[in-house]
Amino acid sequence: MSDPLLLTYLALFGLAVGSFLNVCIARLPAGGSVVKPRSRCMSCDRQLTWYENIPLLSYLALRGRCRTCGSRISVRYPLVELAGGLIWVGAFIHFNGFWPALSGAVFGSLLFGIAVTDAREYIIPDEFSVGGLILGLAFSFAPGKPTPLWSLVGALTCFAVMYGVAVVGEWAFKKPALGGGDIKMMAMVGAFLGPWHALLTIFVGSLVGAVVFGPIGLKTGKLVPFGVFLALGAAIVLIWGDAMVGWYVTRMLGV
Ligand SMILES: [Zn+2]
Repeated sequence: MSDPLLLTYLALFGLAVGSFLNVCIARLPAGGSVVKPRSRCMSCDRQLTWYENIPLLSYLALRGRCRTCGSRISVRYPLVELAGGLIWVGAFIHFNGFWPALSGAVFGSLLFGIAVTDAREYIIPDEFSVGGLILGLAFSFAPGKPTPLWSLVGALTCFAVMYGVAVVGEWAFKKPALGGGDIKMMAMVGAFLGPWHALLTIFVGSLVGAVVFGPIGLKTGKLVPFGVFLALGAAIVLIWGDAMVGWYVTRMLGV
């Protein structure tokens, strides 16, 4: 898909999704509603007008400061909006067909939301994981992979594997090794990707997490935000999963 007008619409829609993700990221970990109340300045608590809520443009026009109290607006807001735009444009360029592209864009947005909340607060909101699981199962009825049965098998397989790892890990390390959020999140990944690609996600996510976060974790004693790396792994598998499985089958298994 490369029609410039269509891509422009997608970019605008993705920016709006990013804007909504900002609300989710700020409010869901605290258990707040994403519908009410309207956005306010974090410092002076003034309710924002519609023209202060336009993705990217408002931040640029306000030069990153509140119009009344002058306090800094976190750069996270425009960055999340930009990421939303890139995810939606990227998905429709990368995937062939409307439904796989839409599914990829929704899945990518959920993964991004999960990565940010987990990185900031070690929380994966149920709205992302369980809500995403329902969306993943629903998308399996649309044209493309996986089929509804395979989607369900993927969700159940991941849930069982992650649950097993959590139980064994807690027994081995005498403390919780995996959070419930990680388990529910992987059930969602299984529903979107099917069992094989979802298991590959656990492998890739663990590997990237160990390489990237291992040294930091050992040095600072910080807890691993595993959801961040699972989300990264899922995004990698979403884009290159078929190529990775193909490479493995020909090189390693020689068939
Ligand atoms: Zn203010």
